Amino acid sequence: MEAIKTMRHSVIENPCHACMPLGAILAFKGIQGAMVIIHGSQGCSTYMRRHISEHYNEPIDVASSSITEPGTIYGGSVHLKKGLDHLIQVYHPELIGILSTCLAETIGEDIARIAAEYTVERDMGAYPLVSVPTPGYGGGHSEGYFLAVRHIIARIARPVPKHHRINVIVPHLTPAEVREIKRIMDLMGVDYILCPDYSETLDSPFARPYQKIAGGGTSLQELAMMGGASATIEMSRCVETHLSPGRYLAGTFEVPLYNSPVPVGIEATDLFVNLLKELTGQPLPDVLQRERGRLLDGMIDSHKYNAEGRAVIFGDPDMVLAVSSICMENGIVPAVAASGVHSKALELEMQTLTAGRTDVATVTETDLAVIRDLAVKAEANIAIGHSDGRYLTEREGIPLVRLGFPIHDRVGGQRLVSVGYAGTMMLLDRITNCLLDSKLSAYRPRMLKKYYSEPSGKF
Ligand code: SF4
Repeated sequence: MEAIKTMRHSVIENPCHACMPLGAILAFKGIQGAMVIIHGSQGCSTYMRRHISEHYNEPIDVASSSITEPGTIYGGSVHLKKGLDHLIQVYHPELIGILSTCLAETIGEDIARIAAEYTVERDMGAYPLVSVPTPGYGGGHSEGYFLAVRHIIARIARPVPKHHRINVIVPHLTPAEVREIKRIMDLMGVDYILCPDYSETLDSPFARPYQKIAGGGTSLQELAMMGGASATIEMSRCVETHLSPGRYLAGTFEVPLYNSPVPVGIEATDLFVNLLKELTGQPLPDVLQRERGRLLDGMIDSHKYNAEGRAVIFGDPDMVLAVSSICMENGIVPAVAASGVHSKALELEMQTLTAGRTDVATVTETDLAVIRDLAVKAEANIAIGHSDGRYLTEREGIPLVRLGFPIHDRVGGQRLVSVGYAGTMMLLDRITNCLLDSKLSAYRPRMLKKYYSEPSGKF
């Protein structure tokens, strides 16, 4: 396997990831009663709201300190404190996340100090203000997401007496996928604390009257209990040590940590349910056993089509690893596996997954211009990733299976399910049908041209 580490250009051309504070917002949306304020210019929060809203098709309320020119020169603490006043007045949140931006970090704003000052000045006692330093250039949205979860847990979790519940830390999935993970655990009788739980907050049912903060999310009581859990399952093989919420819980409260891959594909889902079986002593229920059987059946049905697949896969490191894994299970070559963020872990995991192959390239900290070049070179015939890769279809004719974040040129991105046995089956069908569609739409004209010299390719 070839690991490619350099970018084609000294600048990013068509980025493959969103910025750090955007990912952190998503984590806070999974906490019950939480609101977020962005310390930076108005433009940052507008971009983030719009980007998130287009994917989830939900109203995304995010406050902003709206630093202007004087704030940039003399410091923006007055703006941030005023913004916090308004936010509390309008939303009455149970917890507030304070996120920095490129601008705030570049001018040296210390949001933790400003938050501490604010708490004293407003006599707020132990009110949970959670500040997370998230310069946009500090990483991608997946890093901001994990960093925010870690900070939230570090602020709220307590050294409570040991109990039998299991912490489950999910990476950035779709709300429907979080619901699927919960369904699997409910079927197995697992008593869990899932964090962050945006299964309802980012995919709310239509309701009147409008709620300023959507219902659902991991409660503060549950977060406090995480320090006494019997184990933590962190669904990530790519999270960096300093960003890992599970490592924080292990280091601070000695909660045993299990890093499982995202349960996409039969092997990864087996690993997840086997871990649940081991931790709880519960057997695999019949309904999941049957879903597993159906997936095996579906894999047999589609393998003959998938054997022709050469995929270019791009997105968050954990998603790229999960999709590469399902490709390998089904005879598709993950010809290019790429992420916009730096991820040594992805490179190492891909080396293990594709050991002995020379037709796989892994590239991290890259952009879609490089990914496009590599995809053409690798003769990829299917792309799997978020909407920003649509240029692969438009310019190179490589069809795109939309997956991950953001999906803003189609509806339903928040309802896609690719985890668990049932979700894997749905993803595999989408991939197989995409390959079939390419094949069937091209082969008749090719055949007619070859055997009947019919240039139009029509009967
Ligand atoms: S990259 Fe920086 S400037 Fe751009 S939206 Fe993110 S925080 Fe704001």
